[in-house]
Amino acid sequence: MSAVSLLDQTRDFLARQHGHYIGGQRHANSENAYLEVVNPATEEVIARVAAAGASDVDAAVRSAQSGFASWQEVLPAQKERVLNALADKMADNRDLLAQLETLQSGKTINLSRAFEVDQAVGFLRYYAGWAQRITGQTIQPSIPATGQERYTAFTRREPLGVVVGIVPWNFSIMTAVWKLASALVTGNSIVIKPSEYTPLTMLKLAELAHEAGLPAGALNVVTGDGQVGQQLLTHEGTSKISFTGSVATGSKVGAAAMEASLTRVTLELGGKNPMGVLPDADMDKVADGMIEAGFLYTGQICAEAEKFFVPRSRLDELGDKLVARLKQFKIGSPLDTETDFGPVANMDHYRKLQGIFQQIADNGNTVLHGGYSLAGTGCYVAPTALLAHSIDDPLIREETFGPIATLLPYDDEDELLAYMNHGPYGLAASLWTESLSTAMRLIPQVQAGMVWVNMHTVLDPAVPFGGVKSSGLGREFGEAFIDDFTELKSVMIRY
Ligand code: NDP
Repeated sequence: MSAVSLLDQTRDFLARQHGHYIGGQRHANSENAYLEVVNPATEEVIARVAAAGASDVDAAVRSAQSGFASWQEVLPAQKERVLNALADKMADNRDLLAQLETLQSGKTINLSRAFEVDQAVGFLRYYAGWAQRITGQTIQPSIPATGQERYTAFTRREPLGVVVGIVPWNFSIMTAVWKLASALVTGNSIVIKPSEYTPLTMLKLAELAHEAGLPAGALNVVTGDGQVGQQLLTHEGTSKISFTGSVATGSKVGAAAMEASLTRVTLELGGKNPMGVLPDADMDKVADGMIEAGFLYTGQICAEAEKFFVPRSRLDELGDKLVARLKQFKIGSPLDTETDFGPVANMDHYRKLQGIFQQIADNGNTVLHGGYSLAGTGCYVAPTALLAHSIDDPLIREETFGPIATLLPYDDEDELLAYMNHGPYGLAASLWTESLSTAMRLIPQVQAGMVWVNMHTVLDPAVPFGGVKSSGLGREFGEAFIDDFTELKSVMIRY
């Protein structure tokens, strides 16, 4: 056991009477309504946060409107300095942020440090670097002159105004950073609505942003349930929605935003990501890859693989190697640095996974490992691997968002491609082969926004990310995010 001791700062933060963060300060809730934040490892209530009413939502959007007015005038170099100062503050508060995240989400402390803080800091610095590089184009029009006049044209990238960022529970800091950094570096202001399950880190992050020099109102946080998100996205002062979450909620959000006033929307949604193993693959590397692809943060990563297509001749070999690795997992307290498999993030999700385990039993699937929830306190389930009956098996079709790997054998390359492209989703996919030629031949035929080769789940801020088919609309990261967070204005001049 090497359990981490909670910092005094962590205890103090949990004990606070939390309100929202509006206009550069803590803002008391207008209603006497609160939500409990529960530690999924212990089932204990660790904090209470405000459940926003309509007047809090309105105050947040109004604050963001005035924040937009001042932030858009800030020079690009200063924007870069402020975002980098926030990255410094996050790094300085690494343990506090990581502890809050682990307590509210059940993510192991190692993952909270590495992904929620260190990697989020890296993403923030990447976005900061764009501040002085957002440019338009000059264009020579072909309008014929009738006299001595000439024509020229150029484009400007202009901010949209108030962005609403709606964040899921699985990566409360990282996903929020993607949204606030994209919005702020392009000159917008933002209101963030964290998930009701994981609101604490965002409240802390807003304070750090203010300390880093962000003007009041440029970043606001309102806490509450999905209805708060709904009110934000239909507010008349909102110009854009950046949503990450499930396909079901995302579809509603997209429709509501369009109906509200053609509000711009980016949707980063879920999927049922495939991993395709070619016959020549090294099965030890593949088995290690399946752990990375399917079981990191107990399978609660949108890009993780949930369905694994394996050459029939190698299915038993790979199944054995996977099970040997799953048996070695150290399951335990997420605050213990030796734990590599903690609880799932909340009781609702735990119950959903229990339903899926029942479905597996009813469906008569061959279970290679796990297939049940663990007895005792906390939202713990066993890492699970099983065989699907066919490509139409519900376990191949529906996202579980849990540590459940479903394997299905295939007989030839055409069948592999048909399997990988089966279904309505297309967020991410991976191919596993020792042959670069095979990979390069197959990549264009895989229907996914991201295709990895001999790796899975790893994201980089310079590489655009987003889904095709029902997995989303728009792209984050790279240069691609600029299109989604700015409006293109064309200017034509006769002189
Ligand atoms: P949900 O879709 O349930 O919720 C996402 C966010 O939307 C939460 O803040 C939620 O609030 C809010 N919300 C709920 N209802 C509404 C509504 N009617 N209008 C506006 N906002 C609303 O997703 P989960 O939080 O359960 O996250 C898991 C899902 O997210 C998975 O499907 C996963 O694949 C996907 N995901 C996608 C990623 C990507 O980049 N493509 C990355 C990470 C996750 P509250 O929680 O308070 O109900």
